[in-house]
Amino acid sequence: MKKECINPEKLSAFLDGELSEQERENIKSHVKDCPLCQKEAQGLTKLTELLNNSFLPIEPSPYFIPGLKQKIEDNEPMPAKITINDWISRIKHSLVPIGATALILLSFVAGNRIGNILYQKSSTAQEREIYTSVESSILNDSPESSLTNTYANLLPEEGER
Ligand SMILES: [Zn+2]
Repeated sequence: MKKECINPEKLSAFLDGELSEQERENIKSHVKDCPLCQKEAQGLTKLTELLNNSFLPIEPSPYFIPGLKQKIEDNEPMPAKITINDWISRIKHSLVPIGATALILLSFVAGNRIGNILYQKSSTAQEREIYTSVESSILNDSPESSLTNTYANLLPEEGER
């Protein structure tokens, strides 16, 4: 009496020892006389070995750690070897915010200079009044500790101009 062949899933479970004793006995007795299932079981066993091997922890070569340590040691003096280019790039990075602040201050000073020139060239009292009110409203309305306010405090008093 020829039993049906074992399906691969069942065979795989058998090889993994996941089946009941009864099932194992059935499969064993079938595979023993069935070259087809023997081949299948062989293939599955090889596959399992392959998978297991690929998950084995990889032992580094005995020269890996000393080599790595050597490489780290070789690189350790690096911070002391800062090149001029490194410094230039560092300075450039810190100069950007300084430059931006200087540009803002410069534009304030330039704006005030231009304003003063306009003020002095304003012919009529009305024009002067308008200019003065605009300027003082801008400066006085600025919130405390703002750049404009700080700059306003640096300006000479009205009478000193
Ligand atoms: Zn079979």
